[in-house]
Amino acid sequence: MLTLDSKIEEIKKVGPTYLRKLYKLNLKTVRDLFFHFPHRYDDFSKFVSIAQLKQGEIATIQGEIIETKNTNIFPRRMTLTEALIKDKTGTIKSIWFNQPYLTETLKKGKAVNLSGKLVFRKKVLCFSNPAYEIINKPETTHTGRLVPIYHETAGLTSRYLRYIIKPLLYLTEKVSDFLPLEIKKEFNLINLNQALKQIHFPDNLLSAKKARERLAFNELFLIQLSNLKQKKELEKEKSVLIPFNQKLIKSFVKNLPFKLTNDQRIAAWEIFQDLEKPKSMNRLLDGDVGSGKTIVSILAGLQVSKAGYQVALMAPTEILAKQHFQTFKTFLKNSGLKISLLTSSTKKAEKDKLKKQAKEGKTNIIIGTHSLIQKDLFFKNLALAIVDEQHRFGVAQRAALQKRIHQIPDGLPTTPHLLSMTATPIPRTLTLTIYGDLDISLIKEMPKGRKKIMTKITLPSQRQKTYDFIKKQVKEKKQVFVICPLIDDSEKLEVKSVTQEYEKLKNDIFPDLRISMLHGKLKPKEKEEIMNNFKKRKSDILVSTSVVEVGVDIPNATAMMIEGADRFGLAQLHQFRGRIGRGKDQSYCFLLTQSPAKKTNQRLQALINCRDGFELAEKDLQIRGPGDFTGLRQWGLPNLAMASLSDLDLIKKSRRGAEIVLEKNLFNPELEKKLKESEQVIHLE
Ligand code: ADP
Ligand code: MG
Repeated sequence: MLTLDSKIEEIKKVGPTYLRKLYKLNLKTVRDLFFHFPHRYDDFSKFVSIAQLKQGEIATIQGEIIETKNTNIFPRRMTLTEALIKDKTGTIKSIWFNQPYLTETLKKGKAVNLSGKLVFRKKVLCFSNPAYEIINKPETTHTGRLVPIYHETAGLTSRYLRYIIKPLLYLTEKVSDFLPLEIKKEFNLINLNQALKQIHFPDNLLSAKKARERLAFNELFLIQLSNLKQKKELEKEKSVLIPFNQKLIKSFVKNLPFKLTNDQRIAAWEIFQDLEKPKSMNRLLDGDVGSGKTIVSILAGLQVSKAGYQVALMAPTEILAKQHFQTFKTFLKNSGLKISLLTSSTKKAEKDKLKKQAKEGKTNIIIGTHSLIQKDLFFKNLALAIVDEQHRFGVAQRAALQKRIHQIPDGLPTTPHLLSMTATPIPRTLTLTIYGDLDISLIKEMPKGRKKIMTKITLPSQRQKTYDFIKKQVKEKKQVFVICPLIDDSEKLEVKSVTQEYEKLKNDIFPDLRISMLHGKLKPKEKEEIMNNFKKRKSDILVSTSVVEVGVDIPNATAMMIEGADRFGLAQLHQFRGRIGRGKDQSYCFLLTQSPAKKTNQRLQALINCRDGFELAEKDLQIRGPGDFTGLRQWGLPNLAMASLSDLDLIKKSRRGAEIVLEKNLFNPELEKKLKESEQVIHLE
């Protein structure tokens, strides 16, 4: 007697080899099997008679086996299995390669279904590697219906999964639905057990769609619920209330060397309003590279420190921390505030002094790297924590910074407000899911007068001309980035490729220029040094993999070559491009591609016409789908949630659903349990 919680080793059909493979995919119980979804279906539902079969078609027939035999094809060491099948209208041959055991199953006289493609082989029309199924009951599994196809990893075939899942489907009746009835009604969703049955073996494509919708809703809904709950929790945290000091801010803004953009004003205003509340701010400031986030954070920092509290800013690298330190010092030089820098390379004596000052409240703004969250650093009255390039930090690290204050026995009894910043423009659907627990300020508008970067699709025939152009730029004392192609899942190959490119440029193309190299296998210290040297103009060209540091300002870099541009997503290309065009000179970005293919070029064309990172991110998500969207994989989203990240409608519904559950308190024990499970798997920002 199997139940949903039965271990898969209790399923008779599962032997030791497959048990190991199933465990590899984390499929340990019957329930796990049900929640392992196919990603598509083969439509083998249309039966035809043998006489109607045509070359190139995919068809299903039912017939009787006349004979089966194996032959060895010697030069290639392959086995060929051939079978002859008849029905009332004729006979047809079928062939399979390297499955000699088939003769054991496909025995003479048996009734069989074949589903698959028809080809000509040696001038004879035949099925090539069709799905087959001996017919001994009215219901079929592998043929004659919509047949589920699973991702075939860990050596598990779809056929095998069908073979073990199908006979267990009756157990889906036992699955209790955690989704409150009211929600199902409101959003017209089918029952969970129905959905589970239909997603594996759907009656028709519409049922498959309804099933997928329900199950995707499940995943998104749980994420939303978790986010909204988290948000409510965060809102309970108390922070220091910091009244808006209009006089201070007005006079500061008036003395800036530039006029703030509208988006910068709005973002700053939203932050000031958050700070005026006694609950913790938890805001994400999202704006493209160069959109001017730093000045917004300076405004917040000024407001808080002038109110008598401390501010900490954490950046992911030393070079960024230093850059911020310089910027803060420059903009706040008449403020009378003490600003300090703390990184891992700060000398021991200096560090000790800084720690003392932080603890005694003698420094107002402290800027640094991970060093800021070391256990022995205490603040007297930290009221605002700022995290730059927040996606580079783990959730735990950010939480640590925010919680730091609690570690001082006689410090503030409150949590600091948290302002995170990111230069990754996020599509709206993602804002509503991934960042559902944060308040968000967007800076979409770039500061005035920024020159548009000239972007060009460059085919192999134009390569030499591009090199000549780069030489000229360097002669004019400008600097250049070369980005090497993306190599999936292999940092080792990527290092090899960047090294080759480096050698090529150094030895063959630009023997008289100074070239440096950057890749992910280098230690953080080494990376920083290379970036630093580039910033100090100690090299002319920096060859890099996609690791090239975010946020680092190198105004003298005016050209960029992106090799294999078609392999990157639009959002990522846009991010690279943001490294240049940061000074007063015209900048140039060359997108190198082997492929004159229209479709690729259409995509790259979007980059030429559009300089709005948010728009490009939306496009990217639409064109390539969430699977390829930068950074998404790390969150451990379940597959259907991932696949639905471009479905704004479903995302809105799931969010509304979660709101209703919270408003009306529709929780049930099953839902609580599911929510906990989901929170364990998913680790959102
Ligand atoms: P990011 O958003 O990438 O962190 P920064 O804050 O580093 O961008 O700003 C990029 C540059 O733009 C800086 O040199 C900054 O001084 C300048 N800047 C910021 N806001 C404005 C503005 N409103 N007008 C003109 N320049 C600005
Ligand atoms: Mg920045």
